[in-house]
Amino acid sequence: MNLKIREIRASSILIKSGLPAADWVINPYNGCLFGCMYCYAAQIARWKHPDEIWGNYLDVKINASELLKNELEKLVIRRSHHIYDFGSIFFSSVTDPYVGMEAKYKLTRKCLEVLADFGYQGSISILTKSPLITRDIDLFKKFKDIEVGMTVTGLDDKVSRFLEVKAPPVTSRIKALKELSDAGINTYAFVGPIVPYFIHDEKKIKEIIDKLEEIGVKKVWFEHLNLSPKIKARLYEYLKKESPELITEFEKTDTEKYREKLNKIIEKQMNGRKIKMGYKEVIYHKKLTKKIG
Ligand code: SF4
Repeated sequence: MNLKIREIRASSILIKSGLPAADWVINPYNGCLFGCMYCYAAQIARWKHPDEIWGNYLDVKINASELLKNELEKLVIRRSHHIYDFGSIFFSSVTDPYVGMEAKYKLTRKCLEVLADFGYQGSISILTKSPLITRDIDLFKKFKDIEVGMTVTGLDDKVSRFLEVKAPPVTSRIKALKELSDAGINTYAFVGPIVPYFIHDEKKIKEIIDKLEEIGVKKVWFEHLNLSPKIKARLYEYLKKESPELITEFEKTDTEKYREKLNKIIEKQMNGRKIKMGYKEVIYHKKLTKKIG
């Protein structure tokens, strides 16, 4: 496999967010080497590299931390007095902030160092699929309002290997979440997408929530699979080669009735637990677009 890693100089790094749960996003990389088959970013970010395969390229924004420092200073000047809270910042919306190259370039770490040195008072949220995140526990402790999350699409490495082709296996993520929780970091899990066929009944959902609660995770977000035409085209092309019988199984789940059934199971399973539900309902991209649109 031919990976293309390019060092680039970006023109901005602190970007206004279109996500309901964040005011700003920071993407220290463009592209993602984890190459998940359901990735929505594959469509959003690839206009820069239309001829390349998602998962095979990464632009490394080598000036990310320097840019962030300048942009934070400009925001302070624009607001003409020293406020160190510009709202919530999310790492990252169209890449994974701890993709393998982060071990070498440390761009996410350097951006967090800039925020810590700046004395950032707003909330920070980080979502990754990589246990490399535990490297930065020392830094997380410097923030008063930070939450650190891992995507957990099941408890079985076979499922994560199948759809999150080059991401670290889910068991290593659960171990990392426990390490973070044990270190006193506020942790969350993102069960998204809820993978059709593999995670389809109350038993499976309960197992996931039980595990997350057991390892000290404070909050869990759920999201239904986004089967928009572009995501579907890439995903089904992969399924056609790897496991064609699953196309019918996935297709069957793209109904309001199926989503409602899962919503009820999740609500029931979350009821009365210590672990809280992010967004207070299962996310579905079409409803989300309507809410923020
Ligand atoms: S880790 Fe996230 S950004 Fe990277 S390919 Fe997977 S879903 Fe996309």
